[in-house]
Amino acid sequence: MAKVIIIGAGGVGTVVAHKCAAHPEVFTEIVIASRTRSKCDAVVEAIGRPNVSADTVDADSVPQLVELFNRHKPALVINVALPYQDLTIMDACLICGVNYLDTANYEPKDVAHFEYSWQWAYKQRFEEAGLTAILGCGFDPGVSGVFTAYAAKHYFSDMETLDIVDCNGGDHGKAFATNFNPEINIREITQNGRYYQDGEWVTTGPLEIHRTLTYPSVGARESYLLYHEELESLVKNFPSIKRARFWMTFGQEYLTHLRVIQNIGMARIDEVDYNGTKIVPLQFLKAVLPNPQDLGANYHGETSIGCRIAGLDKEGKPLTYYIWNNCSHEVAYKETGMQAVSYTTGVPAMCGAMMFLTGKWVKPGVNNVEEFDPDPFLEAIAANGLPWHEKFNIDLELD
Ligand code: NDP
Repeated sequence: MAKVIIIGAGGVGTVVAHKCAAHPEVFTEIVIASRTRSKCDAVVEAIGRPNVSADTVDADSVPQLVELFNRHKPALVINVALPYQDLTIMDACLICGVNYLDTANYEPKDVAHFEYSWQWAYKQRFEEAGLTAILGCGFDPGVSGVFTAYAAKHYFSDMETLDIVDCNGGDHGKAFATNFNPEINIREITQNGRYYQDGEWVTTGPLEIHRTLTYPSVGARESYLLYHEELESLVKNFPSIKRARFWMTFGQEYLTHLRVIQNIGMARIDEVDYNGTKIVPLQFLKAVLPNPQDLGANYHGETSIGCRIAGLDKEGKPLTYYIWNNCSHEVAYKETGMQAVSYTTGVPAMCGAMMFLTGKWVKPGVNNVEEFDPDPFLEAIAANGLPWHEKFNIDLELD
């Protein structure tokens, strides 16, 4: 049906490539391109299909991207490089007439700042070019937004509170490691927390608010309030929501390491002079921490991510609702060689691409995932390794 280019050959890119290759009826040709060619070659070799090939690109460079797109003429680019590359890739898409999908919103390299304004500013240009951009199509952001859209479509007349709950109940046996790119991950969780309440954003200290939540098949875990990018688009697209929050679990050992990393200045993202060479401490730290892609072999347990929503049902009666997916690290690793955090991001990215290529999610402009029909997407993730479950009128543990 169509050719796609996947940019980024990390944990997520590897899963996206495996999953696209499993659907040759949709993804007739797949190119995986990144800065380090050897990583792309390794993915191509592991998949071992003639319609999957590797290429090289520095996605910080619009001319290099334009050259790559003109050479391959893809219908869609799946951007699973780092959030820093979102805008250059979108620029190249506009120049070459290529549709766009990503899993994380743009961040400038020198400030850890998460907001959609930079990417939403491309809306009119994508509309005028007749091109579709699908933003934030991983798990969270991604499935979290589609779960919310599904709840609004089928069950609620008014959603009043939304809590996205993200638990990694797995154990990789390392003293400290991050589950995806350490630089991006540590920038995210060392920021102030923020949530939405009655039309305003309330700021908290980093990881200041926490409580114990119970996750299906995992049990009780301490969960910390973080700011997460999908809150921004969800409160805009579902204006009945009065309060929106995001929670993520962390173990004590992880938090102790994180505190030490911050206290000794290793989470800094500004340049320091080291023997006449400029280095960014957090980037140096990334080089010595375990590579998230290598955690899979000894990873046990499950992730459990979902949405807990309260409001009024279609008849105006009070309703509470929980929709979630659990994903086993071992099962994800057996299938793709990657752990569940990469898997739960890569499967939705492939399914979003499939929605676009099969005509179900085509909308010129720049769109967050909750702006599309949730039904075919949720059917696709369930059929491709991420089954989901629902419970009604239960105690959400979140007042
Ligand atoms: P990795 O660090 O494992 O991989 C990133 C890849 O991008 C590497 O192959 C890297 O290449 C490549 N890359 C980096 N800079 C460039 C560049 N300038 N040009 C070309 N390629 C580049 O990250 P992950 O796979 O863990 O994460 C990928 C994305 O997924 C991130 O944006 C992350 O924020 C997002 N994510 C989203 C989640 C969600 O649920 N929505 C959850 C988890 C991740 P090289 O090896 O040469 O550095």
